Amino acid sequence: MKIICIGRNYSEHARELNNPLPKKPVFFMKPDSALLLRNKPFFYPDFSSEVHYETEVVLKISRLGKSIQRQFASRYYQTVGLGIDFTARDLQDECKKAGHPWEIAKAFDQSAVINIFVPLDTLPDRNALNFQLEINDKTVQKGNTKDMIFSFDEIIAYVSTFITLKTGDLIFTGTPAGVGPVKQGDHLVASLEGRVMLDFHIR
Ligand code: ZN
Repeated sequence: MKIICIGRNYSEHARELNNPLPKKPVFFMKPDSALLLRNKPFFYPDFSSEVHYETEVVLKISRLGKSIQRQFASRYYQTVGLGIDFTARDLQDECKKAGHPWEIAKAFDQSAVINIFVPLDTLPDRNALNFQLEINDKTVQKGNTKDMIFSFDEIIAYVSTFITLKTGDLIFTGTPAGVGPVKQGDHLVASLEGRVMLDFHIR
């Protein structure tokens, strides 16, 4: 399986990192070795001193598809979860300055946190899902999928123009404003429409 991540999909987040608003979805990938599952602890890596959380709605692809038309895209995912796209912001800033790819900042082990997935038909409008992250009981990030620049269906149509989507692939759909650093000892709890989806610690 593969993990596809959309960057700059919420305008306020693009602004907080001084990035221009994209005209097409921007995406990058993480390998399957980046997965951190079942609320296991995240071990702070030695190679960064500025690991940021990015809380994102994650789509799980449910059938094979290539060049999927937007009007059929909703047939390709039935469940959603929440994920953390851990980012070594210090390394990412260096990559951006040098014009290099982002892998060392984005694709490292444990950088793709996921846990449970829930059927979309048990949730209210998929285009207006509320989600949030609390660190040590304080809300640090709040988002609603209505604020995405590119909808789930637009993302699937665009990405599948270039890359075949397979059952089990994951798409991280971008983070809202409010990203920030984590430190050892932090307790992260992320919820989607009031339901706890992630609950884990930084070690
Ligand atoms: Zn992200």
